[in-house]
Amino acid sequence: MTQRHDVVIVGGGLVGASLAIALDRLGIDVGLVEATPGTTMPAVFDQRNLSFAAATVNALTALGVMRKLRAAPGPIRRIHISRQGDFGRVRLEATDYGRDSFGQVVVARDFGEALEARLRELDHVTRYRPARFVALEEGGEGGRRLRLAGEAGEQILDARLLVAADGTRSQLRDALGIGAQEHDYAQTLFVARVRAEHAPDGTAYERFTATGPTALLPRGDRHFGAIHGVPSEQAANVAGLDEAAWLGRLQQAFGWRIGRFLASGERSAYPIARVVAERLTAPRAVLVGNAAQTLHPIGAQGFNLGLRDALTLAELIGQGGDPGADSLLRTYADRRAEDRQRTLAFSDGLARLTANPAPLLRPLRSLGLAAVDVSPTLQAYLVGGAMGFRGDVPALCREVAA
Ligand SMILES: Cc1cc2nc3c(=O)[nH]c(=O)nc-3n(C[C@H](O)[C@H](O)[C@H](O)COP(=O)(O)OP(=O)(O)OC[C@H]3O[C@@H](n4cnc5c(N)ncnc54)[C@H](O)[C@@H]3O)c2cc1C
Repeated sequence: MTQRHDVVIVGGGLVGASLAIALDRLGIDVGLVEATPGTTMPAVFDQRNLSFAAATVNALTALGVMRKLRAAPGPIRRIHISRQGDFGRVRLEATDYGRDSFGQVVVARDFGEALEARLRELDHVTRYRPARFVALEEGGEGGRRLRLAGEAGEQILDARLLVAADGTRSQLRDALGIGAQEHDYAQTLFVARVRAEHAPDGTAYERFTATGPTALLPRGDRHFGAIHGVPSEQAANVAGLDEAAWLGRLQQAFGWRIGRFLASGERSAYPIARVVAERLTAPRAVLVGNAAQTLHPIGAQGFNLGLRDALTLAELIGQGGDPGADSLLRTYADRRAEDRQRTLAFSDGLARLTANPAPLLRPLRSLGLAAVDVSPTLQAYLVGGAMGFRGDVPALCREVAA
């Protein structure tokens, strides 16, 4: 039997689940399709440390997700950017901008559990799980028809609006005939929870070396979330290091600002590519999150940007009328353009800071970081990005967190 929904979201990861929660709040009838079985967390909710921008914290608080977190997040009260071999550095203090923090650090697994707890409370969301989007079908008058494969066989859904939230390798994006441009950074990022002589004091560190970036995020559990980028041809070697050698490598890349590195949890590795969809919409269909654009993680922008996709879409649907109308989709694409373009440039610029910097960030190299430290324009640019207030920001991001 065919099931009908106003909106069908394919992908119940970070962005798809958040969108379902935002639409439920507006009383919209939603089908949420996720390939991973209900007994397992989607793989993306792993041990990576997510830095939530202030705009994201505001929105997730309003959506009732932050209060579901079991572990306290780690506030980012200052950001420290440095480059090996460059005596300058940039130090940004949240209090200078009238705020207690620029954002919060949350472990992806904890966030997955919080989203799941919130999803279970919703009235207007039907879950299809495990169910994998397989193909678009003819039919579905006034909407889109799609075929799912699940445990009990195949199923047909009709939607007035179809949302691709199925991640970087979006099958739905392919089925809609939307191409994507890909750039391989030839870099692999290692992520681990580490402990150092000094406990986190609210500082998030970004350190650039000639071979890749290293970031340390202040978690809420007295550990740092370490991210260490290496050229991909070195990835197998780094994966094979024992704990002492791995900590030695981190120490060498990062220096001694937080004292000696003492212990590390398990390491996970992520080969990094930028994947950008050529357009954001097709008739009665729209892309959000990583399906729309996958960024280099070093700027900690991917989910923050994807959430703003989702909330902009929810805001437009909440204005009433046909959720799949061409005019709504045009407005969506227009409203997302500036934030998308600037966030892509920002993340790409940071990623290339190790080698060949993008024009916008060239001053970081040519003048040295000391100059940026006293340049209000560049500082305002960095802070705008860190807090997630760029372009036409959805209203929920502006609500003050309780
Ligand atoms: C190391 C690392 C660190 C990061 N740190 C940050 C950070 O600090 N801040 C930040 O903002 N971002 C960060 N990101 C980026 C962030 O993880 C992504 O932007 C985010 O996961 C994108 O969410 P999404 O929902 O679009 O896609 P995903 O999270 O990938 O979710 C896609 C979902 O779709 C499901 N799916 C896929 N195909 C199908 C199908 N055919 N049918 C049904 N379901 C399907 C998958 O199972 C999955 O659950 C980081 C990324 C990495 C790799």
